[in-house]
This record gives sequence, structure tokens and C-alpha cells, in this order.
Amino acid sequence: MADPPLNAPALFDLSGRVALVTGAGSGIGQRIAIGLAQCGADVACLDRREDGGLAETAGQIAAAGRRALTLTADVTDKAALVSAVARTEADLGALSIAVNCAGIANANPAEEMDEDQYQTLMDINMKGVFLSCQAEANAMLRHGRGAIVNIASMSGVIVNRGLMQVHYNASKAGVIHMTKSMAMEWVERGIRVNSISPGYTATPMNTRPEMVHQTREFERQTPMQRMASVDEMVGPAIFLLSDAASYCTGVDLLVDGGFCCW
Ligand code: NAD
Repeated sequence: MADPPLNAPALFDLSGRVALVTGAGSGIGQRIAIGLAQCGADVACLDRREDGGLAETAGQIAAAGRRALTLTADVTDKAALVSAVARTEADLGALSIAVNCAGIANANPAEEMDEDQYQTLMDINMKGVFLSCQAEANAMLRHGRGAIVNIASMSGVIVNRGLMQVHYNASKAGVIHMTKSMAMEWVERGIRVNSISPGYTATPMNTRPEMVHQTREFERQTPMQRMASVDEMVGPAIFLLSDAASYCTGVDLLVDGGFCCW
């Protein structure tokens, strides 16, 4: 029997999908949220920031002709995530795609790092991704369909030369393996779970005071000789969330300008 006709552009169409994006008030999460809307999704935008980032994201989603919902919550708070998913479904419809982008970074030599600095970062970057996936998947499993993308980092694969951030690197390695583990738990129930591991990307995270002087070094170390723009994370997210990636689960997609080849 002949294959049905191929419609390749439709593979990337997110019309009718309802998305939840954490960390949507800034940087990579903000651009991904806007990109999903431009591909047809209605988007719930979650962040702990209350300084206008979410309003900017929602404004751009509305400008793309899609519905936006803004949610202020902390990803370390399980109850807040469960109610964020419930609010999303009540306002926008059944949750079908999610991007977990909320995260922090900071640095300190391992021998000097106090327990609070270690634990706070682990709680947000690793437990926060776990709790987000859990809340999202509980809705998606009820619908028998869904796709989740977790934003990890190339720091989960390599150790960044010159950056003393043992907790950050460990948290991102944890996100990559947690993603594969959840992908396998839900593989027979219609849920795909993948991660994106960005290389050095120009966002507020990388312009924090202790890192400004390192930007040139990041560029020098990257085979493409530049940092990524936030927009360069949008296409990979659309791909992994869309039907174009219907046979991809448990994948960690490195988007690093070639960094991990060297
Ligand atoms: P960013 O600081 O611009 O955005 C992160 C967002 O997450 C912020 O809006 C922040 O308010 C939110 N957030 C932080 N903690 C939260 C919490 N507990 N609850 C809810 N929201 C919270 O940073 P970014 O560079 O866009 O980073 C986004 C993700 O990409 C992070 O997970 C980061 O580790 C990852 N990443 C970034 C780079 C890079 O070079 N910028 C590289 C690799 C991976």
C-alpha cells in the first residue's frame, strides 16, 4: 500500500495545542513561549518574576494572535505547579505541550560553596524540573498525549573551562538523565520527554556581574566563535514539541555551536 501524501510544513504546526512554559519571563523561556504562539499554540507563561517580564511575553503572544495566560509561581512549590496546570486547562484547554526552562546559575569554588548555595540551585534546577514534569504529565497522561521539553545545558555533558559551578553542572546532568528516565516511564502512554542542552547563549543569565568579562572567552572557546542568540533555541524546541519529532523521546539535543565536538 502506498504511503499517504506527505505534508512536511504541517509537521511543525502547533495550532490547537495548549502550552505551559516555565521561566517564560526572560531569556530562552520568553522567546520559546513567543515562538510556540507564532506556530499556533495558546501559551500559559509561568515565572516567579513580578517585574514585567511575563507581561512582555504575554503581549507578544497576543500580537501573534494567540491566547496567553500569565502565572506567577515558584517551580520549587509543588502545590503551586499543580494549580498552575489546573488554571492553564481551565482557561486555555487541555495541556498538550510544555517547556521547563526556569533555572538559575551562580558560581563558587567547590571547597568554599556553602550548603545553602548548593541546595537552592539544586531545588530550582533539578527538583523544579521534576515537579514541573510531574504536574504537566499528570494532566497529559489523562489525555493520553503530550510532549515535554526540559532545558538542560551543555554543562550537563562537559565541564565549562574556568567556571566553578559544580552544583550547576551536576543539576544539568541530572536534568538530562531525569528526562530520559521519565521518557521511558511514559513512553507507552503517549508522552514524549526530551531535553535541549544549550551552549553559551546571550541572556540575562550570562550578563550577571561576575560573568561579563568572560563573554569573549566563551566566544573564543566555541567552534562557531560566537554565543547563541535566544532565538536559536526556538526552532529546536518547536521541533521536539511538534509532530516533526513524533519518533523522538529521551533525546538530549545539544544546541551548542559545536562546543561538545572539541
Ligand atoms: P534567564 O535568567 O534569562 O531566565 C530564567 C527565568 O527563570 C527567569 O525569568 C527567572 O525568573 C525564572 N526562574 C528562576 N527561578 C525560578 C523559580 N524558582 N520559579 C519560577 N521561575 C524561576 O536565564 P536563561 O539564560 O534564559 O536560562 C533559561 C534556562 O536555560 C535555564 O535553565 C538555564 O540553566 C538554561 N541555560 C542557559 C544557558 C545560557 O547560556 N544562557 C546555557 C545553557 C542552559
